[in-house]
Amino acid sequence: MTGCLSPDALTRIHADLGSIAERAHLAACPACTARSRRMRRDLDMIAAVLRDTPEPVTRPALARHRGWLPAAVGLSAAALALLLWVEVVVWRAVTPVPPTMQPQEVAAILSDVSASLFSLSGDPGAGAAVEDGPQSVEDMAREVDRALTGAAP
Ligand SMILES: [Zn+2]
Repeated sequence: MTGCLSPDALTRIHADLGSIAERAHLAACPACTARSRRMRRDLDMIAAVLRDTPEPVTRPALARHRGWLPAAVGLSAAALALLLWVEVVVWRAVTPVPPTMQPQEVAAILSDVSASLFSLSGDPGAGAAVEDGPQSVEDMAREVDRALTGAAP
């Protein structure tokens, strides 16, 4: 034999697949014997690690999804804050609601609308409730009391 054994030849010998010449060289060559012992030691260590080390605990899908959760919550909160800001500041500034609208005015408008809706001609008409004028809450309460107790008006 002219040269020392190649790593492939040493691997074949460890797998009991080496030829007679390769095994004869290994038995006669101290350098190849040392290499073979190192390879055997490395293979034993690899086998021991693979056999004795517990598998790594991985939660790939769950971890990836939970990684998105804080970002999604933050974006949702930011969107909600923006929506509230638009509603409170911008929308109120664009469409000012008259703060002095009295309940009587609202009642008058509503009675006009209902009289127009429920009249056949489209006009509120002379006998509509508009002529009675808007009622206050106290008047309505008095009417309810009269109806319930039967007291004279
Ligand atoms: Zn050798």
